[in-house]
Amino acid sequence: MRSCPVVPADHLAIRLRGVEKRYGPITAVAGLDLDVPRGECVGLLGPNGAGKSTTMRILTAQTIADAGEVAVLGHRLPEDSKAARAAMGVVPQLDNLDTTLTVEQNLVVFSHLYRVPRAERRAAIDRVLAIANLAERRTAKVDELSGGMRRRLLIGRALIHRPPLVLLDEPTVGLDPQVRQELWALIDRLRNEGTSILMSTHYIEEAERLCDSVTIVSHGSAVACGPPHELVLEHAGRDAVEVYGTPERLIEVEAQAAAAGLATRRTGTSIAVLGLAEANGDAPDGERRPANLEDVFVLLTGEEIA
Ligand code: ATP
Repeated sequence: MRSCPVVPADHLAIRLRGVEKRYGPITAVAGLDLDVPRGECVGLLGPNGAGKSTTMRILTAQTIADAGEVAVLGHRLPEDSKAARAAMGVVPQLDNLDTTLTVEQNLVVFSHLYRVPRAERRAAIDRVLAIANLAERRTAKVDELSGGMRRRLLIGRALIHRPPLVLLDEPTVGLDPQVRQELWALIDRLRNEGTSILMSTHYIEEAERLCDSVTIVSHGSAVACGPPHELVLEHAGRDAVEVYGTPERLIEVEAQAAAAGLATRRTGTSIAVLGLAEANGDAPDGERRPANLEDVFVLLTGEEIA
């Protein structure tokens, strides 16, 4: 793997080195290195079972690593986990809002938990309601909100104490495309305001759009890291040709590409032949398209389903 740019430790919001976590015979995290430079949005990508959730749990001190170094905003974990947890904002994958309370009451609870000074609480709640676009729903009970509104509230709640670092665990999972785009705008705004963000996601397009850099994990360790466009150029080249056909035709195209030294990936109904602009020789008949981060993801993490 090409090594990631070396960033001085004090410029990092998150720094993981050689982190390991085992559950009996299963190694969930296997020597993971991960950097989140201050002020950047980093995507944590990986197939099911790659160790993303375990990594997130280590960062929030819900799980303690067996080995390696973990530092969050300069606090070492697990020793200083309380200080780290107080300084960051965490958006869990599962909605754990209190449905018996109103939108505003949920925020009041968190303003106390995160020790927002009494004199600043009202302004902090108004600010979050504006960010989450929920000012008009402040007195609504949470169970009256749509799924998208709840997710906005979950993100807003994590921002009540203006954290310099936010962890987003699968922020748009299970949401329809319109709501997902609304949340992208919210996350992009946070990033533009200088908040450091670590976001785990299954939606590669989401990472490609929002993240300054991504770390791709497979079997618990990083297999690539860098800005999405650089990873695409490095691993998949500029162009891909998508070839459709019978299963026999696809096997034939795969074999021809392999003989020409070209990488391929399956996309369900087609084969994508990668790195054509860089290669000499004929391209197979098919639809030419720009290579993308999904190509890189499949190339590096394999095509089998865990
Ligand atoms: P997904 O995308 O499916 O959520 P993931 O990348 O988040 O996957 P993890 O949930 O971190 O992956 O799991 C990594 C590995 O560790 C898996 O093999 C999983 O079964 C195992 N694992 C995770 N938590 C536990 C646990 N509490 N006990 C035993 N095994 C666990």
